[in-house]
Amino acid sequence: MEQISFLNTRFDRMTPHETVARLLDRALSRRGGRIYFANAHTMVTAFKMPALVDALKRSDMLLADGSGVLWGSKILGEPLIHNLNGTDLVPALASAGKAHGLSVYLFGAAPGVAEAAAANLRRDYPGITIAGTQDGYFAPEEMDTVLDTIRAARPHILLVALGVPLQELWIHNYADQLSGITCIGVGGLFDFLAKRVPRAPKIVRAIGMEWTWRLAMEPRRLWQRYVNGNLAFLLLLAAQAIAPRPPKPFALYRTETEDAERAVGTPYKP
Ligand code: UDP
Repeated sequence: MEQISFLNTRFDRMTPHETVARLLDRALSRRGGRIYFANAHTMVTAFKMPALVDALKRSDMLLADGSGVLWGSKILGEPLIHNLNGTDLVPALASAGKAHGLSVYLFGAAPGVAEAAAANLRRDYPGITIAGTQDGYFAPEEMDTVLDTIRAARPHILLVALGVPLQELWIHNYADQLSGITCIGVGGLFDFLAKRVPRAPKIVRAIGMEWTWRLAMEPRRLWQRYVNGNLAFLLLLAAQAIAPRPPKPFALYRTETEDAERAVGTPYKP
């Protein structure tokens, strides 16, 4: 799996097709794991939150979500190429998994939303097993019961829709207690699947402007994320672009490695 470093974080570079195949294989073979989609908002949040950096570093797959990350990685010289967001990939995963008896548990979003999303998944991908649903607004003291219920249902995949950074921190903390279950952070996916929030038209998505659509749909909730957040993302990119790089060794500048090689007798070739 090819990895790309972007803003000091290792991303996996894959096509959507390859991503679905790898996710399905991981889920059905019960390897479990922590899978995240990281967008510009994730990277800005991580900059302010070391616990989120730890979660991203410990991921089993980190996927580039949205035009901001693709554009930024191109500017910094290691392009990520494919937009791998959960809103497109989870339906593709359900479609690929339905013939294999894939089971999915939906955890997160407001009460009633996960159930509506599950009903639409069942209708659109007959063959998929919905192992259970749980909203994302329960009391902290109910956490053990929620974990017990998920473990008992033993889905191949647990979709965690709590938004950034809650879902990443939740998966980071609890994935060890959910062995054999592949946990995927999916943000607002259930709101889209349940048709509570309309998805941007294809043309808007194709030109990388889905964020403007989302801002127009929910301006009060999202203006700060997109207006301030996008500015902060640009500043992060600029800081990374001008950060000093380690000098490349050349003939007149011997590196410590080359000195060490000479010391142990390897011929030094200038
Ligand atoms: N959410 C939740 N519990 C919380 C906070 C948020 O279940 O304590 C849900 C919220 O209802 C929404 C999702 O998390 O369905 C976050 O959606 P958002 O659009 O912010 O996610 P994005 O896809 O932009 O990361």
